[in-house]
Amino acid sequence: MAKCDEGYRCDVCGENVAGITESDLYLRYVIGHVDPETLHTAAERHIGCNPAVAQFIVDDEFSPITATGDFNKRNMDRCYVAEQEKLITRGWQRLCKLVDSDIPIIEYPLPEVRAQMQSRYR
Ligand SMILES: [Zn+2]
Repeated sequence: MAKCDEGYRCDVCGENVAGITESDLYLRYVIGHVDPETLHTAAERHIGCNPAVAQFIVDDEFSPITATGDFNKRNMDRCYVAEQEKLITRGWQRLCKLVDSDIPIIEYPLPEVRAQMQSRYR
């Protein structure tokens, strides 16, 4: 996978983003927040360097991240938080499955996101 080999730098802390499971950009891509067209031009950052999104990953394999102030999920609508947790946790688990896989980038996103993309570009 090219992304891993090239080692993009994090927009926030300046360290290398070593793999796809650390990549905020790819996380947002698989959940449909980043368009395929902008994937290669958008800034890369660590998942942990974007707490506003990372706080929604709820998985034993992921060390929990807490966002501060208004962005903390405790200050948000509970239904919205539950939805986001479901989506973004699935997105992160999807990234874990993509490691060492031969899946083309265009097929990275979650099934419902791919379906949406297809109807948009048809
Ligand atoms: Zn970082």
